[in-house]
Amino acid sequence: MKLAIYPGSFDPVTNGHIDILEKTSKIFDKINVAVIHNVYKQALFTLEERVQLIKESTRHLDNVEVDCFSGLLATYLEDKEVCAIIRGLRTVTDFEYEMHMAMMNKKLIREIDTIFVMSDTDYIFVSSSAVKEAALLGGDVSSLVPPAVKIGLEEKLKARRET
Ligand code: ADP
Repeated sequence: MKLAIYPGSFDPVTNGHIDILEKTSKIFDKINVAVIHNVYKQALFTLEERVQLIKESTRHLDNVEVDCFSGLLATYLEDKEVCAIIRGLRTVTDFEYEMHMAMMNKKLIREIDTIFVMSDTDYIFVSSSAVKEAALLGGDVSSLVPPAVKIGLEEKLKARRET
């Protein structure tokens, strides 16, 4: 079985991420979305919320499962039969960062390669941080995120306004 891993912060998942999953779920037998718990990075959504939002947004993809991990990706993959790491590419700026990370992962996990998937032109400018910024300033991000994420962002905005 060809199992691939799609690691990322997904704070929150956007239509750009979903597009990558829709494309790659046709190539691999199973995709494990692995949400990174980064203690050094302040997230808007909790780890549990991020996992739940991805689960709700990938209901139409029956070979996608969602999990989370902290620490090194190499350690998380140690006991898994993963054949590829999936990462999305939007711009040349992404490429520089992603290339370094792929090379580092290749050093740490020799038998697993990173597969890069080009973003659809509709989502080249979509990032979790831009979506959060726009949504928390009251912007309409409904064309950029799955419906569950739109609701989640509205709740965060409401909570901020009440404090
Ligand atoms: P990280 O903090 O690990 O970069 P992200 O959630 O921001 O986590 O991104 C996870 C992966 O998804 C990265 O490979 C990133 O380049 C890719 N990605 C993010 N947004 C998009 C998008 N709009 N189109 C395609 N790929 C994307």
